[in-house]
Amino acid sequence: SSNKQNSLQKFHMILQTALEFYSENIFKNKKALNYLEKRGLNENDIKRFKLGYAPENWDSLLENFKNKDYSNEDLIELGLIKRASTGNFFDVFRDRIIFPIYNKNQNIVGFGGRALDGESTAKYINSQESKVFNKSREVYGLVSRGEKIRKKGFVILMEGYMDVLSAHKNDFENAVASLGTAFTDEQAKLLKRYTNNIVISYDNDEAGKNALFRASYILKKHEFNVKCLFFPKGIKDPDEFFQSNDKKKFVELLKESVDIFEYMFSEFSYDIDIKTVEGKKIFIDRFKEFFANLQNRIEIDIYLDKLSEEL
Ligand code: ATP
Ligand code: MN
Ligand code: MN
Ligand code: MN
Repeated sequence: SSNKQNSLQKFHMILQTALEFYSENIFKNKKALNYLEKRGLNENDIKRFKLGYAPENWDSLLENFKNKDYSNEDLIELGLIKRASTGNFFDVFRDRIIFPIYNKNQNIVGFGGRALDGESTAKYINSQESKVFNKSREVYGLVSRGEKIRKKGFVILMEGYMDVLSAHKNDFENAVASLGTAFTDEQAKLLKRYTNNIVISYDNDEAGKNALFRASYILKKHEFNVKCLFFPKGIKDPDEFFQSNDKKKFVELLKESVDIFEYMFSEFSYDIDIKTVEGKKIFIDRFKEFFANLQNRIEIDIYLDKLSEEL
């Protein structure tokens, strides 16, 4: 209904107003600018990615909204402020770098906030779920209504905000990240609007590897062609890679990226002897979830053939 449209528009406007406040503040704050500079982001990048800074005070955003036409209830709904047990309201994002999150129609739906030190508090916080923000339905870094993904013919899936920013800076504007949570069916459907091809470029650690498997099952369910990209030893994530490598090097890694099945094959066999019956049983069992999610008959046949060939 148009009533609902209006209230959604109101929420987008509140978030836009909050972003303007955070944006003004980043250029006033040496500490935040220094932090971003240390991470390879200059003033141009800050403007391009609309980064902001939430001041340290408990109520600076609250103050900013004081003479504006929005209720505290609206700000609470959007996760911008909270009410303490004393009854006082306070800002949720404090002393953090702010990353605005946009939906596919380029409306702002929420924020990510990164702590500058990362020891005293949670490294990242995201806006809570709200009437305009459903985390499992959005990805970070979806620009120009998916045109960049369409043009390149594939999407690159990364873990975090900084990874996506580094990729975009290096002209891989087809990179997106799921928002701190596991990759979901809704996110797969969203990306499916733009391409059938995905390259997963998660972090080079145990958590990243597990997330890679889980994401590929979902992606297979939605009939994506799934490849995975790996960094040389010692590089922990895409952002770190781009700090010391140029885009040509990344193109090379893209070329070397392998079909997810091929990767699973090596991962699932490394600790067993697939020459023994026992080993074969364990090995095939590890593929259960993968095969359970395959939709395409031809693909199933091809992968089954490969398996039986190797065994
Ligand atoms: P950075 O490079 O800024 O240190 P990162 O992106 O490499 O961070 P990871 O620990 O690899 O950090 O996390 C990847 C992503 O997961 C983050 O960008 C963020 O979206 C999410 N995330 C990480 N830690 C948290 C947390 N404590 N709470 C919520 N989300 C988090
Ligand atoms: Mn990680
Ligand atoms: Mn990381
Ligand atoms: Mn990182």
